[in-house]
Amino acid sequence: MKIKLNTPVQITKLIQTFTKNGHEIYIVGGVVRDVLLKRTLVDWDMTTNATPEQILALVPDSFYDNKYGTVGVPSEGKPFEITTFRTESGYTNARHPDNISWGKTLEEDLKRRDFTINAMALKLISAGNYELIDLYGGKEDLTNRLIRCVGNPNERFGEDALRMMRAVRIAAQLGFAVEEETFAGIKTNAPNLEQISAERIRDELLKIMASDYPADGYLLLRNCELGQYVLPEMEGAFGIEQKSPGRHHIYDVGTHSVEALRYCPSRDPITRLATLIHDVGKIKTQRIFSDGRITFYNHEMESEKIAGKLAERLKFSNEQRDKFIKLVRWHQFTVDERQTDSAVRRFIKNVGIENITEMLALRTGDRLGGGARETSWRLEEFKKRLIEVQKQPFAIPDLKINGVDVMGVKNIPSGRAVGEYLQVLFDEVVEGNLPNEREALLEKLKEMNL
Ligand code: ATP
Ligand code: MG
Repeated sequence: MKIKLNTPVQITKLIQTFTKNGHEIYIVGGVVRDVLLKRTLVDWDMTTNATPEQILALVPDSFYDNKYGTVGVPSEGKPFEITTFRTESGYTNARHPDNISWGKTLEEDLKRRDFTINAMALKLISAGNYELIDLYGGKEDLTNRLIRCVGNPNERFGEDALRMMRAVRIAAQLGFAVEEETFAGIKTNAPNLEQISAERIRDELLKIMASDYPADGYLLLRNCELGQYVLPEMEGAFGIEQKSPGRHHIYDVGTHSVEALRYCPSRDPITRLATLIHDVGKIKTQRIFSDGRITFYNHEMESEKIAGKLAERLKFSNEQRDKFIKLVRWHQFTVDERQTDSAVRRFIKNVGIENITEMLALRTGDRLGGGARETSWRLEEFKKRLIEVQKQPFAIPDLKINGVDVMGVKNIPSGRAVGEYLQVLFDEVVEGNLPNEREALLEKLKEMNL
């Protein structure tokens, strides 16, 4: 099949250099799939029968990209990657092939690729014109929106367990289904995921979260029986009832969590994952009373503990971890219009000013995922209040007593100690331990000793 495609000029030139020198070279992998799907083209991968040394000699500023002999070529965007045809044989730990040897033909190289939609190649015919090479029915699977292994799924997942995560991730990104035998192959090999490093699992999980279909991606992960290896802490949430007489809940905890994720308006993967697990502490804190009432007292603190362990297990960066934990810990915040300015300020301080938008996104997902139709007027008022409160920064001069009061009560001259007393009182007010009222402040001051 002929394909018209305007590749970057640099790619056309590269291909021409290789063919002039008697080598074969093709565009391969995800980019070919994205060309056919008319998606944005990001990484350009090529495969050739030239050896890494020959590639380095042919392309002036190219460099070794990794230990598997991939050569990188600087470009305006991400470097282009050129890899010598490969064949792979013998996997011992369900991840790393024992030996990679150079293949002789394009066919061998395409055969070791994961899915049919990722195993197509483009051959340059003339500028702007390509021939699609599709040996495994990739184009048909694209049309039918299916993720299907190249070859026997059981063997392919046995060779490399990461492919199971890739299958779910690509399905979530493209809104595709996993073909039946491939699906069965994942179920059979699911326990092998334990051999995959936490970092690889994290990267794929966060890509699922960042995709167009995070909630369906997560459901697919569970249907394939990978859920227990990726997010074991969530498994117990399904079936935890929360319907209480007169309360708003319509779903069990697990289903509500998935729906909250579906409706979370943020695209940030950490916010989305926090939305998915925010209620996980309900598993341990559920209390059922004889009148049918169900409570989950302090569940957010239990959720916070679980979030901390999860962040550690998946080796989140400090920044990811901090945000993740804060969003989970403070998700029960009140939007009551009767709360004081200092309570609102304390909320901002706890969540972190940089996470406020994401905290509100989690709340929106939480509401919509619990059956509410839209955002509440209280939440909208609260959003305005957050902005208002920040326009009036609260500082020591805003305390209802001043330095003269301190000098009078403590009987001290002006000097550093006065400022120190005010600072302690100020911190107490910000923490919410003390109201910003003259009488209360003077009372506290009398008891204080620095
Ligand atoms: P994206 O770039 O969006 O992550 P992609 O399909 O391009 O998607 P890459 O990780 O860039 O994925 O890999 C490039 C190509 O290498 C894939 O399209 C596939 O053909 C092949 N590939 C990647 N990982 C594997 C694997 N674990 N097993 C077999 N083939 C793989
Ligand atoms: Mg890619």
